[in-house]
Amino acid sequence: MKRKATAYTSEQLRQSATGKKHHWSAGLLKSIEDPECKVREDDKIVVIKDKYPKAQLHYLVLPKEDIPSIWHVKKDHRDLLTHMHEVACDLAEGHADHEFFMGYHAMPSMQRLHLHVISTDFNSPCLKTKYHWNSFTTRFFLHSQDVCNQLRVDGEIKKISRELSTDYLNTKLKCHKCSTQPKNMPDLKRHLLTHIGK
Ligand SMILES: [Zn+2]
Ligand SMILES: [Zn+2]
Repeated sequence: MKRKATAYTSEQLRQSATGKKHHWSAGLLKSIEDPECKVREDDKIVVIKDKYPKAQLHYLVLPKEDIPSIWHVKKDHRDLLTHMHEVACDLAEGHADHEFFMGYHAMPSMQRLHLHVISTDFNSPCLKTKYHWNSFTTRFFLHSQDVCNQLRVDGEIKKISRELSTDYLNTKLKCHKCSTQPKNMPDLKRHLLTHIGK
């Protein structure tokens, strides 16, 4: 199937949702090659820090194999995705004082598959928009454990349509830790601070 070559990264969600282009995605592949950016590496994966961290700790685990997006993952990638999940868990264990979300964004990207490993404080100046927030806290975010389970049990990952993905990004703001529904992003960011250090 031929798809329009549009790339999305966490930083691009706002632009993608508004139909504008952004150029950070090209930097993703460059970052894999840059030893300065690398946190960890083995024969199958590279770990880098997200250039625009949306929380205190925000890593990306990328396969060396050229897999453009989560929707290009096949049954045969099961072991690779399990390995990426284990690397993510290991990274998280190195920061026992933080909780983490680990997962993939639902919007197709033509650049390189990447697993987000992000601390759940979401305390970062780079977290600016509702789309940023919803990309990690709604079903737009495909949790790594679920993805691995689906691959193991069903042999494939259940597709989420572009329309549904966009709906998730446009969901009303809601706290990921309580039932609070902040009015806007400044309100959310203030609220998030109340969960830190508890
Ligand atoms: Zn991403
Ligand atoms: Zn809350």
